[in-house]
Amino acid sequence: MVKKSVLLLPCVLLFALGNVQAQGSESQPRSEVARVKSDKPIEVSLLADHLQPGLETALVDSVLMDLDFEELHPADEIYDGWNTDYVKAYANVVLPETYTIDVSDFVMPIEGRLTSHFGYRPKYRRMHKGADIALHIGDTIVAAFDGKVRVRSFEKRGFGYFLVLRHPNGLETVYGHLSGFLVAQDEMVKVGQPIALGGNTGRSTGPHLHFEFRFLGQEIDPEEIVDFNALCIKEDNYVFSKTNSEVAKQQKHAASSHTNGGVKYHRIRNGETLYSIARKTGVSVDKLRKLNNIKKGEVLKVGKTLRTS
Ligand SMILES: [Zn+2]
Repeated sequence: MVKKSVLLLPCVLLFALGNVQAQGSESQPRSEVARVKSDKPIEVSLLADHLQPGLETALVDSVLMDLDFEELHPADEIYDGWNTDYVKAYANVVLPETYTIDVSDFVMPIEGRLTSHFGYRPKYRRMHKGADIALHIGDTIVAAFDGKVRVRSFEKRGFGYFLVLRHPNGLETVYGHLSGFLVAQDEMVKVGQPIALGGNTGRSTGPHLHFEFRFLGQEIDPEEIVDFNALCIKEDNYVFSKTNSEVAKQQKHAASSHTNGGVKYHRIRNGETLYSIARKTGVSVDKLRKLNNIKKGEVLKVGKTLRTS
């Protein structure tokens, strides 16, 4: 055990050094960097410099236990890999038909009023993939469950400063528009632990927390899990269902464009023209005309199916 410990200790120190460099090279405003304060591995290496000889083994053993814990990412059994750049990093994932998620430990990341629901926003023609919670800039955001910081990043036109945590129950949570970080990349966090300061960074029109639940990259309506009036969960378990997932709903919505034996089709919907179908399908108007023998000036019938390849 002691031999193994000695071998592994340099890894801790290397990790600590790597961490310092990573932070120094980030192009964040100074005030943001200054707010980052948690660097557990660095504390470990500082302690190691001042060791009493007899304490060495005990400390190293406890470090090893931490390492064993940290080497495994939460919910490793269902996730493939640990991507530290992107929220949605699971393009090739095979979703289970159903998956029961224990959400009983949940705490609100911040207790505030729900200001925007999950769902399609016609005004911006895009999905709003989370819930918005009102706050004041600088308010403390806490971790919704135990977990590990998978992404700590910045998106100028999106989330602003944001965090993604992965949790042992299989969920990931996203916290957007932050003004400061209180945790480091890959840091293990406890439920209720302060992880960030609320803000108004990125594509945001006022101070709020953009909060998402995701499962294997699939967004879940937070109001299916949380009662935002009572500020607590609705049920101890949330059952993710592939057929009821947002992706399935969007696929159903797009089912008017389907494929059959390599040939692609598009079902004409109300209000569509050859030009709008050409834009949607990426097939030119001329080609659509040829494939479907449509004459100039011919009126498209809603519900009719066009070949697009
Ligand atoms: Zn939002």
